[in-house]
Amino acid sequence: MSEAPDFHMTPNEFRRHGYAMIDWIADYYERIESFPVLSQVNPGEIRASLPKNPPEEGEPFEAILADIDRLILPGITHWQSPDFFGFFPANASGPSILGDLLSSGLGVQGMLWATSPACTELETHVCDWIVDLLGLPDLFKSTGDGGGVIQDSASNATLCAVLAAREQATNYGFNEKGGDGKLVAYTSTQAHSSIEKAIKIAGLGTRRLRAVPVDDRFAMQPDVLEKWIKEDRAAGFTPCFVCATVGTTSSLAIDPVPEIGRICRQHNLWLHIDAAHAGTAALCPEFRFIHDGVDLADSYCFDPHKWMFTNFDCDCFFVRDRSILINTLSILPEYLRNEATASGAVIDYRDWQVPLGRRFRALKLWFVIRHFGVEGLRQYVRFHVTMTQQIVDWVKADARFELTAPPMLNLVCFRHIDGDKPTRQLMERLNAEGHIYLTHTKLNGRLTLRFCVGQVHTQEQHVIRAWKRILEMTDKLERGR
Ligand SMILES: *Cc1c(COP(=O)(O)O)cnc(C)c1O
Repeated sequence: MSEAPDFHMTPNEFRRHGYAMIDWIADYYERIESFPVLSQVNPGEIRASLPKNPPEEGEPFEAILADIDRLILPGITHWQSPDFFGFFPANASGPSILGDLLSSGLGVQGMLWATSPACTELETHVCDWIVDLLGLPDLFKSTGDGGGVIQDSASNATLCAVLAAREQATNYGFNEKGGDGKLVAYTSTQAHSSIEKAIKIAGLGTRRLRAVPVDDRFAMQPDVLEKWIKEDRAAGFTPCFVCATVGTTSSLAIDPVPEIGRICRQHNLWLHIDAAHAGTAALCPEFRFIHDGVDLADSYCFDPHKWMFTNFDCDCFFVRDRSILINTLSILPEYLRNEATASGAVIDYRDWQVPLGRRFRALKLWFVIRHFGVEGLRQYVRFHVTMTQQIVDWVKADARFELTAPPMLNLVCFRHIDGDKPTRQLMERLNAEGHIYLTHTKLNGRLTLRFCVGQVHTQEQHVIRAWKRILEMTDKLERGR
C-alpha cells in the first residue's frame, strides 16, 4: 500500500493564486509605461541573480510571485508597451490571454479529432471565418478541397508548404527515397529567413534556393523568376516551389502575386504566400489589394500573433488541396487508430503539421474575434495605418531624414541623411534611454530605422511623443558632434 504524495495546489489555492496572478498582469499593464521598453540588463545578469540550485522542497506560491518583480522584470523587453515600435508587434490582449489560460486549464492535446472534438472543430470553423474576414478565396475553406489549420508560427507553416511542394513535385517519391538534389525553390532577396530554414530542414539544400532580385520597391521581379525557372528546367533541374511575400519583414514590400501566380500555374510550381504580418490588414476592404492574385496560390499563411491581437503562438495556414499536405505528413501507427479517423468523416490536424501534439490555440483566436468584433479589429488596423501616415508626413517635413522604402500599411522605413553612423547612433541612444523602442534593417546595403505602429495599446499620444523624442535625440546628437 502506498499513498499518493500531496503537494498539489488545491482548487481553492489555485483560485486564490490565480486571482493574484491575474491581478499581477492587470497591474503590470497599468504600470507598463514606467519601465524602459528595451531591457537594459547585460548578458548573464539575470542568470547570475538566480539561485544556484533548484529548491529541494516546495516554496509558497507567494514567494514565487514576489520573485517575478525582483528577478524577471529587469530582463523583460516590454513588447506589450504602447511605446514598442520595433520589429513587428507580438501582441497580447485581454481576451487572448484568457483564451490561452483556458487552453492551459483544459490541457487538451488535440492531435486527433477523437482526442477532443471541440479542439478540431472550433479550429476548422475559425479558420473558415478567417477566409471571409481577410477576403481570401473560398478555395481555402474546409468546405471544398482546401482548408485551414492553426500552426505555431509562419516558419512552420512555410516548412509544411515546402514539404507538400516537394512531394507534389516528386509524386511522394522524396518521402520514400530521399532527394536527388534536383529540386529548386525560389523566393525574393527580401524574403524572411524562415524560407531558407525550411529549405534546409526539407533537405532541398540551400544552394537549390534561388533568391530572385527585387525592384526599387523591394518587390520580386517576376520576369527574372520566369527566366530562372526556364533556365533551371533546361539545365535538368526540377523547379517545384515559389514563396511570394505579402509584406516583407524589412519594408512590408508586396511581391506581385498575380504575375508570380500566373508563372507558377504555367510552369506547375507550388506557390506559397507568406503574409505573416501584413495579412491582418485585409480585415479592411480598402487594404484587400494586398491579396490580389492569392486565388492562384497553393498555400497562404499569416500570423494573428503579430497584428491581430492574439498572443504568440498563432499562425493560420491555408492550403488549396488538403490531400497533398495530408499525404505528405500522414503517418498512422497502431496506437492512434480509431473509428472516427477510419470513417474519414473527421479532420485529424496532426497530419497538417510537423509535431504530433497540439494545443487548443483556436480558443484564443475565437475569444479575440468575439471580444473585439470584426469591426473593432478593423478600427485598430485603420488607426495604426493612419498614425503611420502621420509619421511619414513628419519624416518628409524634416530635411535631416529620408524615407528608405515606400511606406506601406503600418511601417515606416527612414534614416538620417548623413548615413549609417548617425542613424545607428540615433537608434542606440533612443533604445538606451528606454522611452521608446525602434529596430533596424538594411535596405540597399544602407542602415535604416523601422517604425512600426501596431501595438494593441498604442494611442495617438504615444506616437506624437515618440516622434518628439526622435527629434530631441537628433538635436542632442547634432550638438554633440
Ligand atoms: C515575422 C515573419 C515571419 C516569421 O514569423 P514566425 O511566426 O515567427 O515564424 C515570416 N515571414 C515574414 C514576412 C515575417 O515578417
